[in-house]
Amino acid sequence: MVEVKQLSMKGREEERRQLKQTLLDKRYLRMAEIWAENSYCERRQVGCLVVKDKRIISDGYNGTPSGFENVCEDENNLTKPYVLHAEANAITKLARSHNNSDGATIYVTDSPCIECAKLIIQAGIKRLVYSRQYRLTDGIDLLKRAGIDVVFMDHDVI
Ligand SMILES: [Zn+2]
Repeated sequence: MVEVKQLSMKGREEERRQLKQTLLDKRYLRMAEIWAENSYCERRQVGCLVVKDKRIISDGYNGTPSGFENVCEDENNLTKPYVLHAEANAITKLARSHNNSDGATIYVTDSPCIECAKLIIQAGIKRLVYSRQYRLTDGIDLLKRAGIDVVFMDHDVI
């Protein structure tokens, strides 16, 4: 009987922990969405945050490399090949900082492409939370294959 009671207490604790995590995830996703507004790209604005031990250790949005003109599209309205994705910007920013992303969570407004998925895996990121699906799922599939915890939270509910 005592054992059962202890178990249910543990269950409730786990439930509370989950609920707290969901609230945090939604807040970080909303922040990533606001951060995307920094992007000067016209076709799509993507934002992301890298969080470790409840601290934001990096951030990114899609755009051209430092020192380049702040225009993402060419005269045909196609995205220039040297535009960096939000995730690539956030991860490479860490390379110039004292932080590292080992075990971190990445919050991204949009489903990552396969190139960014590779970077996320190699950066030691363990969890991804995103809020907009993309027609291609190869990035998400790769992350799942690498054992990364992938969480989708619909844009409308965050
Ligand atoms: Zn990408």
